[in-house]
Amino acid sequence: MVYDEPSMAEKKMPRRAFLKKAAAGVAASSVFGPVYAQTRKRVRWRMATSWPQSLDTIFGTAKAIADRVKTLTDGRFEIEVFPGGEVVPALEVFQEVQKGRVEIGHTASYYYLNLHPAFAFGSALPFGLTARQQNAWFYDGGGQDLLNAELYAAYNVVAFPAGNTAAQMGGWFRRPVDSLADMRGLRMRIPGLGGEVMGRLGVKTVVISGGEVFSALQKGQIDATEFVGPYDDEKLGFYKVAPYYYYPGWWEPGTTTHAFVNLAAWRRLPKDFQVALEAAAHEANERMLAAYDAKNPAALERLLSYGVKLRPFPKEAMRVAYREAFSLYEELAAKDATYRKIYEHWIHARTQLFRWFGTNELAYADFTFPAI
Ligand code: CA
Repeated sequence: MVYDEPSMAEKKMPRRAFLKKAAAGVAASSVFGPVYAQTRKRVRWRMATSWPQSLDTIFGTAKAIADRVKTLTDGRFEIEVFPGGEVVPALEVFQEVQKGRVEIGHTASYYYLNLHPAFAFGSALPFGLTARQQNAWFYDGGGQDLLNAELYAAYNVVAFPAGNTAAQMGGWFRRPVDSLADMRGLRMRIPGLGGEVMGRLGVKTVVISGGEVFSALQKGQIDATEFVGPYDDEKLGFYKVAPYYYYPGWWEPGTTTHAFVNLAAWRRLPKDFQVALEAAAHEANERMLAAYDAKNPAALERLLSYGVKLRPFPKEAMRVAYREAFSLYEELAAKDATYRKIYEHWIHARTQLFRWFGTNELAYADFTFPAI
């Protein structure tokens, strides 16, 4: 909804003074580039999300975007934020943005693999990029522009990275899974291509939203679940019904969430509102990552104090999963031109990034991180 309304200050300001001020706004520039003339419009949007309200990390990030946009536009661009399932189903946020029923959504691209397998590249792929590598590819390597042009535009949507969970944990299991044989036949909640790869290891996979996982696990409808990491997982209470906590989440080494915006609504936005929204999303991308990195260590300590059993995934299972993941990527690339185009861009970036991170970052981490 967009409408013109003079601000209180303008109502009080003599017309000549206002015109002078407006003209100065158009002409002005600073060391940071041109200063956009401030629009007189007011805009109200609705943002659907896929997140339970209890998660201050990820739902809090969606709220932070709205708050920042409001501040940056002097209160003239307001976005009302809804938890998962409140105005639209938690896992249909993208489609509702596409239809324009809500102007903006905060969700994870890989929830929408049913629309196209290339949606995985917006969030995470098994054995893919870490948070920093995602950002390198999205912002500096042309990855986000590529996704917008080749994928999301076909759905009348434009996307901005707006949150990262860092490397996720492997999730909660009712029983130990110390071999591939232990994993066969398990029913597990896991989204994205990680779910496809788990399927190839014999796991029966389902995708349900974060808010519904605990009750499915408690009722025994599933044997295992993953969500994000210690801080969120503690809040959702999975440790109460599935005490074995595995790592790493090899299917989500640095998952990105996005602000998805209906393209027609985006084009109707005044330029300075577009700049405010893009800046707020960029800031959210950084802040969510910082929040997870800062909060997860203490949360893991608490979980261990409750008796949670922390275990690494069996290497054998990870090796088979790695092989299956890349067979899957090649199969998808052979079947679909859009997927192939994005995959080739991504795999090139991944090769370069892994070579660099595998040299300097790895040497530092390998020497320093292990608890001595
Ligand atoms: Ca996850």
